[in-house]
Amino acid sequence: MLDNLGRQDPTGQVDMGSTEPPPDTFIRRWIARIFATYVMLRWVIVAATVLVAGIAFSSLAAGVTASVGWRLAAGVAAGLVLPLLVRWRLRSMVTRRLGRAPSLGGAWFFAGFNVVALLTLCLGFGDVTGTALRRRGDWFLGETDGYLPRRYRRGMTAVGRYLERFDLPPEAQAALDDAARPQPALPPDLPSIKFPTVEGLPPLPGHPVLPRPAAWYHPLRGPHRKMPPNSACRFGARRPGNRPPECELGHCGIDLFLPLGAPVHAVYSGTVVKLQRNAQVGGIAGRFVWLQHKKGKVISSYVHLDQIRADLKIGSKVEGGEAIGTLGLTGIKRSLPHLHFGLAIQHSPGRRRWVDPEPLLWFWHLPTARPAPGPAPGPAVAGVSTPPALPPAPGLAPAPPVAPPPVWH
Ligand SMILES: [Zn+2]
Repeated sequence: MLDNLGRQDPTGQVDMGSTEPPPDTFIRRWIARIFATYVMLRWVIVAATVLVAGIAFSSLAAGVTASVGWRLAAGVAAGLVLPLLVRWRLRSMVTRRLGRAPSLGGAWFFAGFNVVALLTLCLGFGDVTGTALRRRGDWFLGETDGYLPRRYRRGMTAVGRYLERFDLPPEAQAALDDAARPQPALPPDLPSIKFPTVEGLPPLPGHPVLPRPAAWYHPLRGPHRKMPPNSACRFGARRPGNRPPECELGHCGIDLFLPLGAPVHAVYSGTVVKLQRNAQVGGIAGRFVWLQHKKGKVISSYVHLDQIRADLKIGSKVEGGEAIGTLGLTGIKRSLPHLHFGLAIQHSPGRRRWVDPEPLLWFWHLPTARPAPGPAPGPAVAGVSTPPALPPAPGLAPAPPVAPPPVWH
């Protein structure tokens, strides 16, 4: 008979308590477990801080270079090489002073350094970092789509928007002064009667039907608010050719995807200032419409349209939320049908500055079915997709018929 230490029991009897380890072995086993967890956790924390710092710095670099190599180099340099260099320098300085090498914490030094670097970015340069994370925090995912990339992008957009807190340039804020209001205010020149066109309420009997108060609208209708799906579709993404400097690597707008033929709406009341029905002449823009708002202070552009409303011409007036055409594929070489939407602030006739419309789209109204003044769209042209005539929104006052019924073409 062997006892638990492998020795023969001289009495020949089995010790029933011999399967229990002695207390010191039990404690040692737990210490080993705790130590292994600590080592593992330490490396997880260090790896996480290096990764987050790498993503933040590579996203900042992605605003100035389209090269994957340079973007990666910026991330690795900030997350790994810089702490290594600083640690080496500190170590040699302290060794020279004290005559012995100090302990700087090894892996914890990396974690601490990266946390300080990230806090500096977030607290000192929150707006720039937030914009970089919102627009390009997913640059390394390319155009991949799936459950995990979608979750990651959603989280990164939320972090970016929080840090950025939507800081419009002052001149844009002045031009889009009612853009940030979630509810449209009544224009001051309208009589302060019980407003009969408030959404959800029918016009009161005996009251005149007043025009809808001015408001900003998303260019595509719901039910889901369409936003750019990845960094290649956002403002500042890489595009060929010489582009205005504010557009970073070239993309002076955002790309919003919906099926071919989806209605495209004017974002604000305005006037048509550019219109191209010939997709060949339009080149890479295809068919497009530009609207001018706020007495020429703001321009909105709707590019790659499939159809443009037949009654629109240069100088035509449109209301905010009114349909002006349909989403298309004109001018697009290698992509699915989408709307390229641009927004610019016009400083003077020759000076225009494009701004990123994405943060505004988060809270602009989703247009309801009010495709155009007058009755539903006219007869479809054979072989051309026509948007379905959706029922009008409840309580939406019909606009006065100021233009003939539109024909889509
Ligand atoms: Zn585009």
